Amino acid sequence: MAIKKNYCIFCGKELSDGKCVVCGREAKPSISFDELEYQKVPAEAAEVFGVQKKKLFGNNLYSVKEMIKNGDLYIADVYFDDTYETEYESSGDSEMEYNYYIQFSSPDQAPCERDCEVTAGQYRKIKQMLQEGQHEGKLLWGKWKKKNYYYVFALQGRTLEAALKTSLAESLMDYGTETEKRRIPPKGGFGNSAADKAFDAIWDNTVGKL
Ligand SMILES: [Zn+2]
Repeated sequence: MAIKKNYCIFCGKELSDGKCVVCGREAKPSISFDELEYQKVPAEAAEVFGVQKKKLFGNNLYSVKEMIKNGDLYIADVYFDDTYETEYESSGDSEMEYNYYIQFSSPDQAPCERDCEVTAGQYRKIKQMLQEGQHEGKLLWGKWKKKNYYYVFALQGRTLEAALKTSLAESLMDYGTETEKRRIPPKGGFGNSAADKAFDAIWDNTVGKL
């Protein structure tokens, strides 16, 4: 389902002539991951894993190696839009845990309908890149045992083989099925809804006065 809003889906502000008056992004129709332009990861890239033995409880490196050998691993260029984290209480103890997500678009900035979960390390790297005005990213799409795996990441001057060997292959298998419907800000932007303002006012009048 394409995302349709009468305001900017990146920042929540108003559109004028199909462009956001605040962030300047064009209001392009959203796309699914299928609509990105992929290239097949060449079979030689599988050599980076060396000899991998399949294990009873899964071997990520083996799975990715097979994906590549079967011609089922693809890579596409993407444009990073934003990062966000969600917190939840882990079962067992009351510590808060976090999930980290990346929002991205096609290179010509048509927003993808879904966000990808990534590792904390990848999240921090992309957050830093965005602060420096860098948006160039990659999306891996692999098929393994009738499931689709997607993982968005920053290559940052490395080769794909080098990235796969260090931790990218594990991340693809561990996080690849964790995608979420794109998180859209409310009209006016996050932190600007009536509910947020009411919360801020209560906070200021209570905790803020302690
Ligand atoms: Zn905007």
